[in-house]
Formats: sequence, structure tokens, C-alpha cells
Amino acid sequence: MSTQALSPPPFTSDDFARRMAHAATQAREAGLSGVLVAPGPDLEYLIGYAPGVIAERITMLVINVSREPAMIVPALERAGAADAPGAAAISLREWGDGEDPYAATGRLLDADGRYAISDSAWAMHVLGLQRALPTSSYVSMTDALPMLRAVKDADELERLAAAARAVDACFAEIVRVRFEGRREREMGAQLATLLREHGHSRVDFTVVGSGPNGANPHHELSDRVIERGDMVVLDFGGVKHGYESDITRTVHVGEPNEEEEEVFEVVRRAQQAGYEAVRPGVACQEVDRAARGVIAGAGYGEYFIHRTGHGIGLTAHEPPYMIEGEIQPLEPGMCFSIEPGIYLPGRFGVRIEDIVTVTEGGARRLNNSTREMRIVS
Ligand code: ZN
Ligand code: ZN
Ligand code: ZN
Repeated sequence: MSTQALSPPPFTSDDFARRMAHAATQAREAGLSGVLVAPGPDLEYLIGYAPGVIAERITMLVINVSREPAMIVPALERAGAADAPGAAAISLREWGDGEDPYAATGRLLDADGRYAISDSAWAMHVLGLQRALPTSSYVSMTDALPMLRAVKDADELERLAAAARAVDACFAEIVRVRFEGRREREMGAQLATLLREHGHSRVDFTVVGSGPNGANPHHELSDRVIERGDMVVLDFGGVKHGYESDITRTVHVGEPNEEEEEVFEVVRRAQQAGYEAVRPGVACQEVDRAARGVIAGAGYGEYFIHRTGHGIGLTAHEPPYMIEGEIQPLEPGMCFSIEPGIYLPGRFGVRIEDIVTVTEGGARRLNNSTREMRIVS
């Protein structure tokens, strides 16, 4: 099967018009005047525009709750912006060098409005807008509208599922190669090659945490030579067709001992419990509690030192977060990781991670690699 044949059709201007209307609704419900969108994942999501170089000249999409959306762009980037698939649904305004870009942008805003603004907006632009419109105010998009991109539509889900299938295929290949005697760095390079072979346009991370390195959840790669008897945490992903993949499996080089089997089984059960907790209406923190409860109940609570999961989409980490205190209810179409782990300092670590999506009746895993322990050579 060629990767080309599997490329999903591009998003249409209708898709983007629907997303912008939804953003306006969310802003209205949050009591805001609108949404200000800077280059980055929000802009890509809302009109499919990603300027080649994000430079100092301001580009900003303005979605007012009571007016047609408009985007201000530097004159020299107008042509590229006009080609964006979502540009049909907005009016384009340009500003030229020598003009005050904040006065020009400010004309699209309510003078005393309160706006959610992309996390990726440059501080210099926010400060410029505040100077141009002293009675306006701004809140971060993640604080004000955390769920803006959280519910995926069918086409987004298909892209995330394809990215997940690709990393499943990478895992199936990596467990067939020899681990013993090779450096983590070499294994990481091989994972990166596999990701590209399986249609990824970008590799974001290749974690190979062997033996004691597996006990550090932020360990990436080192020159450590993998030995017989090692647990090896493999956590890798990147971008395929614009959407992120992210999977973790922990393998063992040769036969595991009893303790390793026990710790692995606790993590496997915790991951399963997190998965079984997922259904519409359940608060995000319940997914964390379900997974954490299994690990704490087995006596390893102090060794599970991070949240249970994160949303995923155009970016690798985004709302919703599966963490104590997050009371946001799950909705069909949300996609996130469930990735409990146990990290025994100086010894070894185990983590198992799948991307799941909320369905009408519960949940569906996008990753389907075995969650039983794989023995490698
Ligand atoms: Zn071992
Ligand atoms: Zn991961
Ligand atoms: Zn993850």
C-alpha cells in the first residue's frame, strides 16, 4: 500500500467556516468579545494557514462574536494568506511597512473588548494592541477557551487514527530488531527512520530509556549500551498528515524477573482502568484517578510522578489533560493519551501509552499494539 493512496482529502473552506463559527460561539459563551488568532496551531486549525516564516510583522485572525471574521496580514504576505483554504470565509486586510500595524489591527477590534488570544501570540504584539486600544483586555486562549480544538471531527479523527496505525507498525518492526549490545541513540535513530518510512513528515521524539534510564520519564536518548535483562521504555511520535502520533511501550531484553513482571502488570492494569473510565460526561480527573488508583493500590503510588494523559491533535500536548483537578467533562470526539508509569529510581521504569478517543458509548483506542510485555533479543 502506498502512503500516497492513503492521503486524506484536504479540509474544505466549509470545514474552516464551521470551526470559526464554533470559536465565535465558544467566545460568546465565555463572555468574550472574540478570539485573536496568531500564527501557530490555532490559525492552522481555524483557516488552514501556516505562514512559512513566523517573523516580527503581525498576522492576526480576528473572530468577533458579532462581526464577520477578518485577518490582518503584512502586505508582502497577502498572496500566501489569500491562498489558505479557509480564506474564502474571511476578509483580508493588509498593512504596509511604515504604517502602525497595531492601529491597523485595532480597527478590527472593539475598543473596549475582551479577547481570548492565542498562546503563541508574541508578547510584543499583545503589548502593541494594548497600547493602541488602552481599554481593551486579553486572556490566554488556553485559559479562556481550553476546549477550542479538543473535540475532533471525523476527518481529524481519521488523521489521528492513521498516525496511530503508523506508530503501531513502527513498534511491530522495532521489536524484531536486536536490542542487546546496541546504544539507545542507535535505536532512536532507527525509530526515526521507521516513522518516516511510515508516512511521518516530522519526527518529534524518540525516547529509548533502557535499564536505569527508563526510571527518568524525561530521558530521551544516551550512549548507554542496552544489556540483556534491561527493561526498555520506547516512547515515540511525530506528525503524519498534519496530526500527531504518540505511543509508549516497554519491552524487556530476554526473560524478565518476577519483580519486573509484577511492575509491568500493575502498569498494564492501570492503563486498562484509565481506558475503562472513559465515557462522555465523565470528568477528566476520573481517568487519572482510575489509573492512579491501581498503581497506588499496588503500593507504587509514589513512583507514578506525572499526570495520566494529555490531549493530542495538531500539537502533541494540548487540552484536555487527564489530571487531578481537571473537572472538564469528556465529550465524544476528544482525543488524548492514557499513559501511566512506574519509575523506580536507579533501577528501571515501565510506561504504557495509547491514544484513545471518546465515543458515544465509551472509548476507542487508536493504538492497538499489544499491551502485554514483549520480549526482545
Ligand atoms: Zn530485567
Ligand atoms: Zn508519549
Ligand atoms: Zn504522550
